Amino acid sequence: MPEIAFDRFYRYAKLTELLHALAREHPDLVAIESIGRSFEGRDIWVLTVTRKATGAAADKPAFWVDGNIHATEVAGSTAALFFLHTLLTRDGSDSEVTRALDTRAFYVCPRINPDGAEWALVDQPKWVRSSTRPYPFDEDEPDGLVVEDIDGNGRILQMRIADPNGLWKAHPQEPRLLVRREPTETGGTYYHVLPEGHYDGYDGHTLKIKRPRERLDLNRNFPGSWRQEFEQKGAGPYPTSEPEIRAVADFVVRHPNLTGGTSFHTWSGVLLRPFEHAPDEEMDAEDLWFYQRAGRKGTELTGYPAISVYHEFRYHPKEVIGGTSDWIYEHLGMFSWVVEIWSPMREAGIANYKYIDWFRDHSIDDDLTLFRWNEEKLDGAAHHGWKAFDHPQLGRVEIGGWDRFNAFSNPPPSRLRAEVERFPRWILWQALCSPRLELVHAAAVAAGDGTWKITLVVENTGWLPTYVTKRALARKTVRGVIVDFELPEGAHLVAGKLRDDTGQLEGKAYKHTGVSFWPDYEVTDCRRKLEWVVQGNRGDVIGIRAHHDRAGAVRTLVTLG
Ligand SMILES: [Zn+2]
Repeated sequence: MPEIAFDRFYRYAKLTELLHALAREHPDLVAIESIGRSFEGRDIWVLTVTRKATGAAADKPAFWVDGNIHATEVAGSTAALFFLHTLLTRDGSDSEVTRALDTRAFYVCPRINPDGAEWALVDQPKWVRSSTRPYPFDEDEPDGLVVEDIDGNGRILQMRIADPNGLWKAHPQEPRLLVRREPTETGGTYYHVLPEGHYDGYDGHTLKIKRPRERLDLNRNFPGSWRQEFEQKGAGPYPTSEPEIRAVADFVVRHPNLTGGTSFHTWSGVLLRPFEHAPDEEMDAEDLWFYQRAGRKGTELTGYPAISVYHEFRYHPKEVIGGTSDWIYEHLGMFSWVVEIWSPMREAGIANYKYIDWFRDHSIDDDLTLFRWNEEKLDGAAHHGWKAFDHPQLGRVEIGGWDRFNAFSNPPPSRLRAEVERFPRWILWQALCSPRLELVHAAAVAAGDGTWKITLVVENTGWLPTYVTKRALARKTVRGVIVDFELPEGAHLVAGKLRDDTGQLEGKAYKHTGVSFWPDYEVTDCRRKLEWVVQGNRGDVIGIRAHHDRAGAVRTLVTLG
């Protein structure tokens, strides 16, 4: 097993090497493939993980895991790597991991966006939201600040410039910490604050951040509730216009055995579920019940709250967004989640921290709490003292303040492992909830005149129904259990069908509790019995294959006589 470090982030070449080493050293469990190339031509890797000895991945219900669609959210890759590490190091010693590898498959894409991540991880980093493809225009805006590490220390911090009309001032109890001034306040020392960077076309008076040339947001490029740029920034010219998203969408639809997925992002310390564009009232009740149950389990196992994007995670109350998870649930009817890794606010002990709303407004006491947590628990890694710097365009400025990339956008290296350790149990729980087709009984009984009656019983042993969601039924993205009957030469069918769609099998998810006024009339609606009558010879072998796109496949041979 190659050594994987969980206190650092891997650049593309090293990550590629590591993923190939995992496949090489676990040929019984891991296969690696490139699902396509990024804008800059990097392969996008997906690892298929399952015990090959117990069946091919395509014949098992599967779960999708991805990370790092957003350029700087590199801890998403770490979380995916840690999940792989858990599967491969706990196999055989951990009953849940072993059972998951025996009965399910995992498709893991640790880095959907290798180009953007590479820009964030080079020695002189440059931040883009997502893809590095210029969009919507090839040309730069003529003037403004370009965010980058300008003093060459490998970090992108903040720059402050003293100005009587600045918004920012020193915190009354902590001069290194900048906070917003009060609405009617005058007479102090105030600053304008900008990200670190160089300035093109400075006019000596006005300051603005240049919008980056690379304005795509790959997570807005999925087909689910896709909207044009004017409604949704970074959406791209049309759904799946970008090679990274086309590759992922194509892989997902080519794997109908997928039943759910989790996408790792940063940050906020929260588990996000659909809808992103509509209230819970519009979701099928059963789907919502399972989402709520999986959310409670997620909170129990990860410590993160679980919420609907639409209801509690909107950048602006009048705007809605869409992404991977909305597409996977909305169009395909699979349960999908987004994990926003890491919450410095919660770590610092800020009470009533409410995700995005906190950024819009909060008390300056919270800023001080965060600052002190940084001093006491992170050795000051999240905030740097202000140092004078002769800026090539702006003149005398000071560089310092919060280190967004290393302490907020991602957990700092000292906290990275503890943070990504939260998730494997929850992913395993979700995967093990999936439907799973199993063989109960198969037999041939002589029925006179050279005929035999063949009986097959299959059942869904999973928690969820074979169709997974009501959404999938409504959107007609699933078919039932397909049964194929193969006769040897010379034999023929008297009754029954050679191929039949035998419908869906229920699971256990929506049965009533013990104290219920409504009994479940169909106690074994997870089970199906099928019969055929065959004219044939003693010793003939009949092949039967039952498979459900989402619940897996079973095969059996029945001998006449
Ligand atoms: Zn993100």
